[in-house]
Amino acid sequence: MVIGILKEPFFETRVSLLAVEAAALIKSGHTIWVEQGAGSKSFCLDDDYKASGAEIKSRADIFDGADMVLGIHYKDVPGSVKNKVFIGFYQPIYHPEVVDEWLQQNNTVFSLDMLPRTTRAQSMDVLSSQSNIAGYKAAVLAASLYPRYFPMMMTAAGSIPPVKILILGAGVAGLQAVATCRRLGAVVEVFDTRAAAKEEVLSLGAKFVEVEGAADASKAGGYAVTQTEDFQQRQKQKIADSIKKADVVITTAQIFGKKAPVLITTEMIENMKAGSVIIDLAAATGGNSELTKDNETVVHHHVSIIGNSNLAASMPSDASRAYGRNMLNFLKLLINKEGSIDLNLEDDIINSTCITNDGKVISKIINANQIHGNVTQLHTQQS
Ligand code: NAD
Repeated sequence: MVIGILKEPFFETRVSLLAVEAAALIKSGHTIWVEQGAGSKSFCLDDDYKASGAEIKSRADIFDGADMVLGIHYKDVPGSVKNKVFIGFYQPIYHPEVVDEWLQQNNTVFSLDMLPRTTRAQSMDVLSSQSNIAGYKAAVLAASLYPRYFPMMMTAAGSIPPVKILILGAGVAGLQAVATCRRLGAVVEVFDTRAAAKEEVLSLGAKFVEVEGAADASKAGGYAVTQTEDFQQRQKQKIADSIKKADVVITTAQIFGKKAPVLITTEMIENMKAGSVIIDLAAATGGNSELTKDNETVVHHHVSIIGNSNLAASMPSDASRAYGRNMLNFLKLLINKEGSIDLNLEDDIINSTCITNDGKVISKIINANQIHGNVTQLHTQQS
C-alpha cells in the first residue's frame, strides 16, 4: 500500500509519523510518501525520511497517488480528493462539518480521538499520549511563568515556602501535571468528579478534595458527565476556598463531546494573589475559567490566565514520536497480513474510530448524536 504523510497546517508543529516509524512500515512492505518539509518542525528532516527509505513528494502527488493518507488535522484537502482512506486526529465530534465532506467525497476516515478508552486500545490512544505531554508541559510552563520558586528553599537569607498548586481534573493530563508539580516540590490539591481519581491522586502525594454527590459516570466509558446544578454550586464553593490559597492553578476538566465545565469565576480570580498563574488546558472547548481565551494569555488583576489546549505541540519531537507509535499500533490492527485494509466492524476499536465508509456514517457516537449536518450543535451545547 502507498501511505502518504501530510505536512500539517501552519499552526501545528507535529507530524503524524517520524522517520523511524516510517521505516517500520516500509519494512512491512509498504511504500511511504512524505510531503516535502512535513517533519521539519518536529526536527525530522526530508533527508531523515529519505534515509529511512521513504520518498519525498508534493501534496498533490500524495492526494493523487497514495492509497492511505496519515495526518493530525483535516485541513486544506481539496474536494476533488475522493475514495481515499484518511487517518488522523480529526475530532469530528467538535467539527461536524467535516463529516459531511467525507460523506460527499466517499472517503473512508478513521479518527483516533474516538478510540474507546480500554486496555486493548491503550497502545493506540493518542488522546492519552498527547494529554500526558500536555500535563507535563503545563507544570513546566507554570514553573517558568510563576515569579517565585516551586520547591521549599532553605537559604542563608531565610526559608521560602513551597508553591501551592490547585489542579482541576485528574484525567491523563491532570495526573501528569500532579506528578510533575510534585517532582518540582509543590504542594498540590486536586478536584475531580470521578471517585476513581482519588486513589491515583493520593498515590502521587497530593491532596484530593472531595465534593459529595457527583453524577454517576459509570456508563460514560470512563469519561466525566455533566453535574447537577446543586453539585456545581457546592463544588464552586470548595474551589473558591482552595483557589484563594493557590499560587498556580492547572485546569484540565473536560466532558467528552461537550463544552468544558466553567469551574473558576472572575470573582475567584480576583481573590487570587498577584503573580498567580492559571494554565487552562480545556481552552479549546470553552475553558474551565470564565476569563480563558483559547490560544491567548489574559492578565486580570495581576493573574495570568494561559489558554492552551495544544501544549503537546510545544514538544513536537516527543509528541510526534508518541503519535506515530500510536498510529503504527493502530495500523497493525487495521491492515491485514496481505497488506490491505481489514474493515472488521465487529471490532470495537475499528467500529469506534471509523467515522465514514462507503458514503455512510459508521461511528455509533456520531450517528447517535446526529453530529453530521448540524454544525452548531456541540458549540452551543451547555455543559
Ligand atoms: P478528560 O480529558 O475527558 O477529562 C479530564 C478530567 O476532568 C477527567 O478526569 C474528568 O473526570 C475531569 N472532570 C470533568 N468534569 C469535571 C468537573 N466538573 N470537576 C472536576 N473534574 C472534572 O479525561 P481523559 O484524560 O481523557 O480521561 C478520560 C477517562 O478515560 C478517564 O477516566 C481515564 O482514566 C480513562 N482512560 C482510560 C484509559 C485506558 O484504560 N486505556 C486510557 C486513558 C484514559
